[in-house]
Amino acid sequence: MNNIDIYCEILGPELLAEPINLFTNISFLVAALLLSKQTSSSNRNIKTLIFLIFTIGIGSILFHSFATPWARILDVIPILIFQMLFVWTYIRRVINRSTYIASLTMIIILTTSLAAREYPQLLNGSLPYLPALTILLGLGLYHHQTNQPKPFQLLIVVGLFITALVFRTMDSNICHHIPIGTHFIWHLVSAYMLYLSVDTLIPQRR
Ligand SMILES: [Zn+2]
Repeated sequence: MNNIDIYCEILGPELLAEPINLFTNISFLVAALLLSKQTSSSNRNIKTLIFLIFTIGIGSILFHSFATPWARILDVIPILIFQMLFVWTYIRRVINRSTYIASLTMIIILTTSLAAREYPQLLNGSLPYLPALTILLGLGLYHHQTNQPKPFQLLIVVGLFITALVFRTMDSNICHHIPIGTHFIWHLVSAYMLYLSVDTLIPQRR
């Protein structure tokens, strides 16, 4: 078996080797459910983003159950597509910029994230999240400066993203202090962060 064992909370090679890492993925499914109840928006991108949060939860459940390279792809791809589609939708819907600028930004996220995957030893594999974080910080500042509805919300998302990444990164270094690790906190904070980021795009009810 070529299982990928990169998390603190590994109790054994079987299906329930990481119970807390596994069950905290339910938070992604809850986030997707709450968003789909909350929006009556017929916008296809928003619906796809909500579906991607659901897919992120399922992909992560499979990865933490099977820990195989194919499950890892299912854990990685939905997150990358979510990042690109969110940035695309924000640039098109909120900033009203051309598809050219939106496409260029997506290509930057895709290429830099994939390039960062070549350095899995850095930051416990968290490096591929930094391009999206940097662009999100730019969008958060824009959101606040142009006084959009919920002006602070994207900056809160940036703060949550950084918090989540800290817990994701410190996981393997903290095993001897906290046996279950901190990866499960990454799941919980990320789910809330994804919820708030899509909520930013949902039109306000009057
Ligand atoms: Zn995980």
